[in-house]
Amino acid sequence: MQIRSNYIDGRWQLAEAGAVRDVINPCNGEIIGRVTESGSTDARLAIQAAHVAFYKTGAWRRTSGPRRADFLLRVADVIMSRCEELARLDSMNNGKPLREARADVEDAAACFRYYAGLVTKPQGGVYEVSDGFGPMHSYAMHEPVGVCAQITPWNYPLLMATWKLAPALAAGNTVVFKPSELTPLSAVELFGIFDSLGLPAGTANLVLGPGVGAGSELAASPAVDMITFTGSTRTGQSIAQAAVGNLKKVGLELGGKSPNVIFADADFEGAVEWAMIGVFFNQGEVCSAGSRILVEESVKQRFVDRLVQRANAMTLGDGLSDPDMGALVSQAQLDKVLSHVRAAREQGARILCGGERYVEGECARGFFVRPTVITDVTPDMPIVREEVFGPVVTVQTFRTEAEAIEMANDTPYGLAGGVFTSDGARALRVIKEMRAGVTWVNCYNPTFNEAPWGGYKMSGYGRELGVNGFLEYQQVKQVSINLRPGEVGWYPRR
Ligand code: NAD
Repeated sequence: MQIRSNYIDGRWQLAEAGAVRDVINPCNGEIIGRVTESGSTDARLAIQAAHVAFYKTGAWRRTSGPRRADFLLRVADVIMSRCEELARLDSMNNGKPLREARADVEDAAACFRYYAGLVTKPQGGVYEVSDGFGPMHSYAMHEPVGVCAQITPWNYPLLMATWKLAPALAAGNTVVFKPSELTPLSAVELFGIFDSLGLPAGTANLVLGPGVGAGSELAASPAVDMITFTGSTRTGQSIAQAAVGNLKKVGLELGGKSPNVIFADADFEGAVEWAMIGVFFNQGEVCSAGSRILVEESVKQRFVDRLVQRANAMTLGDGLSDPDMGALVSQAQLDKVLSHVRAAREQGARILCGGERYVEGECARGFFVRPTVITDVTPDMPIVREEVFGPVVTVQTFRTEAEAIEMANDTPYGLAGGVFTSDGARALRVIKEMRAGVTWVNCYNPTFNEAPWGGYKMSGYGRELGVNGFLEYQQVKQVSINLRPGEVGWYPRR
């Protein structure tokens, strides 16, 4: 089987130490690829290439906006022309249902198009300033940050890569990108697309390898100007610490334990269906998963009964056969999810459905867990406080709006949250009080390229997507011009 390589300075090259990693399909444990396994030396090579490309040759940052936009549009076209192939790859590598992987590929293409559009739109403005200095113009110039390192997790392999690469390249940066070591295959294809479309050498560099070594070098390197990271809060903390050395700019998209608040006056069936999407989509391996359902006490029993009925009806299977839900990404993730459920059971919680490894039929060789609904939890239990990152939801009840808000915010995280009610004013009140960066009213989990994405509190800082996501990859230079060079203003006083 061919060993997929790093892409550094416009060339495909194996990691120096010669180590190789098998890439697994979590639905059946089969090896679907082999990739080179990089360490810090390889990361340094990639950083150097990106550094030379930005600071010395400067081909990409000097490429005009419309031409950069054109490149991104062509990337989007190729992605769409290979949609099925890329979707199958992500489905096989991550374990997700094929139609969800297809939606990811379509979203990725749309994201490249969105940032292609923004490149050519004016930013900043010209200000007439004169106070005490004589007539001047001052304007803000938006420039790329420089060398951007980017690290992504395994839950949306192609899409997370795109959320970072599209705005960074649109803004004229050079990049070193490291995907999760568990799901590197679609990123290799994406870099193949960059290569085939003639991106200048050193502009985008791919390093395949684990977090410690390849990843930590990107965070610590003094030659990197910015690091953006999506992954767990714990890793985010170590990245922020490593980044302090040269005070590089840091963007962190981290974990969550997001509340989904359901009032008795909500459209009942709609709330149940959205709650399902909120927590069982992508096997629950979604940072924004609505993993804490808070439901008004008067409708709790009806809601739980319906949720369990719907959860039990979900089909599980090989992602490529397009079941309702696929496999968890790895044995380690399976073990983590099951140990959370086991601990909850031991602490007195009731597991109403799921909660075990699922081994029926074609699922026997994969890492499957049926959708799991848990009640009888207390606010201090780890199952209510810690991110599980699997198809597991707890249900708690509240009596008043104030209590719902307090429970919703009772977490160190602040990534996302939802509210279901037919009372529009109440929806707005609850959302306003929710300490979370991404919120939904009468829906849960939709994301849009136009809308900024990111967390409050321990879910990180910085934003991806939208105009905010573009601005993250830019720095602003103030330019002030004296319109009458002979006039020296107020200093020295005469
Ligand atoms: P992880 O933190 O274990 O790994 C994420 C990435 O960081 C991987 O590429 C890994 O190789 C790398 N890494 C690990 N240790 C590192 C280190 N010391 N230095 C540099 N890089 C290192 O997370 P994961 O298990 O891959 O992903 C799941 C987590 O990601 C969950 O907590 C989830 O909430 C979070 N996530 C957040 C968002 C968001 O937008 N907020 C989106 C998706 C996933």
